[in-house]
Amino acid sequence: MKNTHILVVEDEQDIRDLISFQMKSEGHQVTAVESADKAVSVLERGEKIDLFIIDWMLPGSMNGLEFTKKLRSHKSYMSSPVIMITALTQPDNIVSGLDAGADDYITKPFDLTVLQARVRVQLRGLELSQKTAEDKLIFGNLLIEVSKCRVLVQKEEVTLTSTEFKILLLLAQKPGHVFTRDQFISNIQGDNVFVTGRTIDTHIAGLRKKLGEEANVIETIRGIGYRFKDES
Ligand code: CA
Repeated sequence: MKNTHILVVEDEQDIRDLISFQMKSEGHQVTAVESADKAVSVLERGEKIDLFIIDWMLPGSMNGLEFTKKLRSHKSYMSSPVIMITALTQPDNIVSGLDAGADDYITKPFDLTVLQARVRVQLRGLELSQKTAEDKLIFGNLLIEVSKCRVLVQKEEVTLTSTEFKILLLLAQKPGHVFTRDQFISNIQGDNVFVTGRTIDTHIAGLRKKLGEEANVIETIRGIGYRFKDES
C-alpha cells in the first residue's frame, strides 16, 4: 500500500519515537502524539489516517480503549485498522480491547519487528477490503466462493454448515483481525442461528476438521478468540 499514514498514540516518548522511526523506515508517513486528546485534534484537522497504533493507558480525558470506541463510531474511521498496544496481558483485558474495536493487539514489551509484521498484515487486509465485492477469496489451496457459499480445498469441494461458512467467511475477509467469541456471536447470530461462546469453539473444531490440510488458516488465540492466518 502506497503513502500510508499511520497515527501513533503513545505517551511514553521512547516507545513513541521507536515506533515512529520503525514505521518511517518502512516508508510510511507517521504522525505521533502522546494522548488521545491530541489524536482527536489530528483527526479534526481532517488528516487522512490509514492505520492507528494506540497505547491503552494514556493520560488525559480518554484512554486508548475509549479512543478506539470513539473511532468506531466515526464515519471515516469505523473500519480503519487499529492495533492496540497494552501493558495489560490478561486475556480479559485483551478481550475488552478487541471488543472495543481493535483489530489486533500487542503486549508490552514487544519487538518492533513483530509490530511491523502486524502492521503489514493489517495493511494487506485493508487492501483486500478495498477490492470491492471480491467474490473469490484465495489463500493457498483454500478457495472461498462468496456468492455461491462454496469452499474448495485443493480443488475439492468441502461441505460446510451455514454457521461454519459464516464463521470462515468472517475470518477470511479480515486476515490478521482477532475475533473474540462475542464478536462471532454478534456477527453470525441470526433468525435460524443461535450460538454461544462454547458452540463457537465447537463450530471452529468442525470447520478445521473439514478444512483438512488447510485447517491451520484458523489460529487459536488462547483465552481470547480466533484469527485468520496471514499468508506470508
Ligand atoms: Ca501508556
